[in-house]
Amino acid sequence: RLVVLGSVNVDATSYVDAFPEPGETIHSHDYRMSLGGKGANQAIAAHLCGADVAFVARLGDDAAAEVARAAFARFGLPAEGVATVPGSPTGVAQITVAATGENTIVVTAGANAAVGPDVVAAEAERIAAADVVLTQGELPVATIEALARACDDAATRFVLNLAPPVGVTADATSVADPLVVNVHEARAVGIGRTLADDADVDAWRDAAASVVGDLARSVVVTLGARGAVAADADGAWAVAAPEVDAVDTTGAGDAATGALAAMLAEGRALPDAVRVAVAAGAIAVGSRGTVDSYAGRADVLALADR
Ligand code: ADP
Repeated sequence: RLVVLGSVNVDATSYVDAFPEPGETIHSHDYRMSLGGKGANQAIAAHLCGADVAFVARLGDDAAAEVARAAFARFGLPAEGVATVPGSPTGVAQITVAATGENTIVVTAGANAAVGPDVVAAEAERIAAADVVLTQGELPVATIEALARACDDAATRFVLNLAPPVGVTADATSVADPLVVNVHEARAVGIGRTLADDADVDAWRDAAASVVGDLARSVVVTLGARGAVAADADGAWAVAAPEVDAVDTTGAGDAATGALAAMLAEGRALPDAVRVAVAAGAIAVGSRGTVDSYAGRADVLALADR
């Protein structure tokens, strides 16, 4: 069983020719409202990969909550761990995309801010009974730290996707197995601080290896189109991504992380899980959207086994 404790946002995206100036009102030429939040994305990715997922999250009591619940139902994601926070808005990301492809994003945490350490305490039994617990950097820092401690106490495997790379204590990252980051997040947490995005894969692999047993129990650094590198106490290695026509990379990291946690929860070793994660990420860049671009277990495993 996989417990995902994480954020839910509704992404409200307006497509404009150019960003408005302060005080200016402009018209968009397209708009969409869709499910987002790294917690929700990763829970759905793991569920699609066949994991038995318990998703623990908080929604507001507004219309956006209905959008989120409808998306969970559409994917068949069980939502018994998802509760409503009276008087709070649901987490929302107000996104503007200009014709240049640049974006501006305003995130309101809303009900996600109510996922405090008390929620970790209330979920102690589920955490102790789980094979793997997964969270991300979008929850309050105190919650991530409490969850790391709870997992360590219960000897439950803790997978930490530190995105965004918020400043949690070394105690929290040190029990992560693995800590999952992209290159930007990697540098922020001290992995490959001097490396460019396109530095040699071997250099990224060595950087990941150099922090094992110290920063985290194991590490996965995703490298976009180049796949990922990973390191644990047994060694360090690289996994190339399958070649795909990149259409929309939004949510690729979440697809990979969700798949990774799903594979670890079913008892696969880290090298095997990273291989599947890289395939899941590659499929997610092949079509538009976030969770709408995620594939099911059969397709992900078929690509991973190629
Ligand atoms: P994030 O989305 O968090 O920035 P990455 O860009 O590193 O993370 O992408 C996560 C994963 O998605 C990669 O490890 C890879 O498997 C896959 N991926 C991303 N971009 C591409 C691409 N252009 N071609 C193939 N796979 C990709």
